[in-house]
Order: sequence, then structure tokens, then C-alpha cells
Amino acid sequence: MNLIFLGAPGAGKGTQARLLQEREGIPQVSTGDMLRAAMVEGSPVGKRAKEYVEQGALVPDDVMIALIEERLVRPDARRGFVLDGFPRTLPQAEALDRMLERAGRVLDAVLYFDISDETILRRLTGRWVCRKAGHIYHLEYNPPKAPGQCDADGSELYQRVDDRPETVRHRLDVYHRETQPVVEFYRRRGVFATIDAEGDIEDVSRKVLGTIRARMELRA
Ligand code: ADP
Ligand code: ADP
Repeated sequence: MNLIFLGAPGAGKGTQARLLQEREGIPQVSTGDMLRAAMVEGSPVGKRAKEYVEQGALVPDDVMIALIEERLVRPDARRGFVLDGFPRTLPQAEALDRMLERAGRVLDAVLYFDISDETILRRLTGRWVCRKAGHIYHLEYNPPKAPGQCDADGSELYQRVDDRPETVRHRLDVYHRETQPVVEFYRRRGVFATIDAEGDIEDVSRKVLGTIRARMELRA
């Protein structure tokens, strides 16, 4: 399955992509996780991205497209992928179309996580992630068993600098301006589906799985 998860920051894309990876074995390709890892490493991509990420701006398209181009040809992703956080601009969406066409691959589903700005603010300001592997928690909605510590790998939990309230508001503006057009770009296609992302994590997971299974049956 080749999937895209679209939606605002905080909509729950990363949480659901991880669950899908654990439950169905489809690799999660999170551009945010890739950039944060590159920043920790101090690689050329990390150095170039740092300022944009920390200010809640978008990293330039050429950097992002090259990153995805290289990621999708790796062995695990050749069988399928869940794109989480890409594409975020129209040029990225167009570049992805060209990439897939060249590789003779098609998109099986584009899931749009529909959510209000009010819920987004509550989710992002309570988000904590783990240092080691980016496992995602929420102070209230999905707390770790031991405070400040990741259930999965025991590493320390931290709050992303771009989850500060003033940066979150900027990211939401960027989302509405740059990424909402990408939603419209895919909406006209047969693979597009809207997921009501307001429910709890298991509730949204059922909807995601239900939609994906229906697509697989259609395809079979
Ligand atoms: P969230 O999960 O809150 O939506 P991400 O972890 O996906 O945030 O992304 C964090 C930051 O990384 C973004 O605010 C942006 O600076 C950068 N980024 C991630 N993906 C992209 C992309 N496709 N294009 C440009 N910038 C990106
Ligand atoms: P995204 O990848 O779209 O930015 P995340 O998956 O990181 O979103 O989720 C943002 C925050 O909201 C995290 O703290 C996560 O634990 C929490 N969260 C995710 N899905 C839900 C949900 N369905 N209900 C309540 N909280 C959620």
C-alpha cells in the first residue's frame, strides 16, 4: 500500500502512521522525524533545515523533494509506505506524482485528517515526544506510564520547541496557506478519503483501518 496522511500539525497523523506500521507493517515515512534526526546528527540537510523547523516555517521544496526521493527507493519502502508530513506544498505534490510515475507506482489512498484549530491547539501544546525514536505522547490524552519516560524505549521525553504556543499559531497559518491547497489537489481524485480526526486514538485508528481495508478490497 502506498498511502499519504494529510492534515494539520497535531491532527494525529504521526500517531496513526506509527500504529499502522506496528499493526500492518507499512513503513512510516515522517519528514518531520527525518529532519529532526538530521538536525541532531548535524548533517548538511539538518544544518540547512534547523532554522526553518524551529521557527515553524517550511523547509525549502528542493531539500524536501530530494529527501523523499532518496527515502522511497530504500528496500523497506519499495513494498509500500505511509507518507506523514509530505507533501506540504503544491510543488512537492507535483514532484511526488512525477516520482511515482517514473517508478511505475500508484497511490492507493490519500487520507485527510479533518480537525478543528481548537483541537489542534490542545493536542500540540500537550505533546511530548521521545528523544530516541520520536514516540508520541500527550500529557492528558496519551500519557506515558512513568512521567517523562518513553514506554517503548525508556528514553527521555521532551517538548518540541516548535510546539510552543506562539510557534504553533504560525505553523497553523503556514498550514492553511501552503498545505490546504494540497488537500484540494488530491480531493478530486478517487483515492481521496476524509477521516474525522476528532475522536480518541483508537476511534480514529478504526476509521483509518476501515478506510484502508475498503481500498484494498476495491483494488483486489
Ligand atoms: P507536525 O507533526 O506537527 O505536523 P512535523 O514533525 O511533520 O510536524 O514537521 C515539523 C517541521 O518540519 C515543520 O514545521 C517544517 O518546518 C518541517 N517539515 C516537515 N515536513 C516538511 C515538508 N514536507 N516540507 C517542508 N517542511 C517540512
Ligand atoms: P501530527 O503527526 O498530525 O502532528 P501527532 O500524532 O503528533 O499529530 O499528535 C499530536 C498530539 O495529539 C500528540 O500529543 C498525540 O499524543 C495527541 N493525539 C494524537 N491523536 C489523538 C487523538 N485521536 N485524540 C487525542 N489526542 C491525540
